[in-house]
Amino acid sequence: MPVDTSILPDLRQDLAARSRELFIGGKFQPAQSGETFAVIDPATGEEFASVASGGAADIDLAVKAARKCFDSAAWSGKTPAERARALTRLADLVEANGSRIALTETLDNGMPMMMAFFGGVAAASEQLRYNAGWATKLNGETFTPSNPGEWHAFTTREPVGVVGAIVPWNFPFVMAVAKIAPALAAGCTVVLKPAEQTPLSAVILAELIAEAGFPEGAVNIVTGYGKTAGAALVEHPLVDKISFTGSTATGKGIVHACTGNLKRVTLELGGKSPVVIFDDADLAKAIPGTAMGIFGNAGQVCAAGSRLFVHERVRDQVMEGLAGFARSLKLGSGLSPDTQMGPLVSQVQFDRVSSYIDSATSEGATAVAGGAAAAVEGHEGGFFMQPTVLSDTAPGMKAVEEEIFGPVLCTQTFGDDDLEQVAAAANNTTFGLSSAIWTRDMSTGLKLAKRIRAGMVRINGGAGGPDPAMPLGGFKQSGWGRENGRNGIEAYTEIKSVTINL
Ligand code: NAD
Repeated sequence: MPVDTSILPDLRQDLAARSRELFIGGKFQPAQSGETFAVIDPATGEEFASVASGGAADIDLAVKAARKCFDSAAWSGKTPAERARALTRLADLVEANGSRIALTETLDNGMPMMMAFFGGVAAASEQLRYNAGWATKLNGETFTPSNPGEWHAFTTREPVGVVGAIVPWNFPFVMAVAKIAPALAAGCTVVLKPAEQTPLSAVILAELIAEAGFPEGAVNIVTGYGKTAGAALVEHPLVDKISFTGSTATGKGIVHACTGNLKRVTLELGGKSPVVIFDDADLAKAIPGTAMGIFGNAGQVCAAGSRLFVHERVRDQVMEGLAGFARSLKLGSGLSPDTQMGPLVSQVQFDRVSSYIDSATSEGATAVAGGAAAAVEGHEGGFFMQPTVLSDTAPGMKAVEEEIFGPVLCTQTFGDDDLEQVAAAANNTTFGLSSAIWTRDMSTGLKLAKRIRAGMVRINGGAGGPDPAMPLGGFKQSGWGRENGRNGIEAYTEIKSVTINL
């Protein structure tokens, strides 16, 4: 068991004892307004901590600290190897503080603590180590210029500058790290705004950044609300780039708000990802893989496989299997070692997911499993939703068209010789983030993979976390740009062309 739960009583006591502060210019400080807000445990519905409520004035201080650090070259002027070493030091500290981070994440978000550990702490450490490697490998190219005469021409990659990073609440720690790691490796400085529902693991990150010895202002972390702190960051004229992960609606607003100084923008947004199960699929793997693809982290996953297309010949078997899996999932507090699915993050999210289930059933869908709030003994105030499988869902239904971001699977069937139709049905969405295909026939799998308009396709693989080396991002309204891999770090750079007349 990698999470040491013996630290939990002290952790709870410490969280209750003092409000967490903002991290600006290398120092912890309260919000200029003196305001704080409550942090709610989704497993109980009760407040267990509070954090500083940063506003426009705090964002201004944070951006100026990041600007000063960038312009003085205190960070970008370090050698790539020094930047790599600092990121590796931070990875070591993340690992050394793994239990504290994972338990805080579980208290804050509700996810099972093993998911908080492997999907949060371990994944964040991998992000830091992977991007540390890139710091020493960001090169330009040389060119053969078309000008007459003798010329030498090349490009360099330079850091884009001050980055405003805004992250959601579904995987708070790893999302925050997945933004700061490539930004820092590229030589940028950062102001991070965590989600108001889950601010606490970002404060631990601030403590570890202070301990790792980054220059003052290299990373600044301002907890606060989206409409105040987030909006101020997006509009700030001294910010060069916004890297945003969140809903498509907020992403569209951010694009508008960035026009002031034409900041660079990358967006990782929502999804409504298709899962296609062919009749030759290995159902012993496809059923649990599909189930955990929508019930993992209670469906609060951008790449969740939320629309299932199943071949009519295996429909009954698959539906029975999924319903049985849903009914057998152990719901509970993420702090219980046997919990497989925790609560939704908040009352707001619970109400949102409930309203989608209600709208689907009122439009003719049937809940073959779940469909209502789940009762968890000892956690009566928690935001628990039953894992839900809906049959008889069809295009045009709100639950099929829109991202629910909860443990709700919509299902449709297809028949023989329907590859083009199933591709069209899978693509019948404004989103294009991810997709999954289950078949033993790799020719069928790859043919469909070519036709699916999504940034990610997984063939015969269950739910799993992102790989820091593989580009992650969406077609259509699922976003702009890619995180991870070479594309991910290059998104934190500008290219400069240099031509020399010899
Ligand atoms: P959200 O858009 O409501 O909030 C995300 C972040 O944006 C939060 O930090 C919030 O405070 C901030 N924010 C809100 N309004 C803002 C504004 N006007 N200006 C600046 N910042 C603002 O999204 P959410 O509900 O927290 O997260 C769920 C969404 O995130 C889902 O749509 C999910 O698909 C998406 N998501 C996408 C990915 C991906 O990689 N594509 C990953 C995880 C989550």
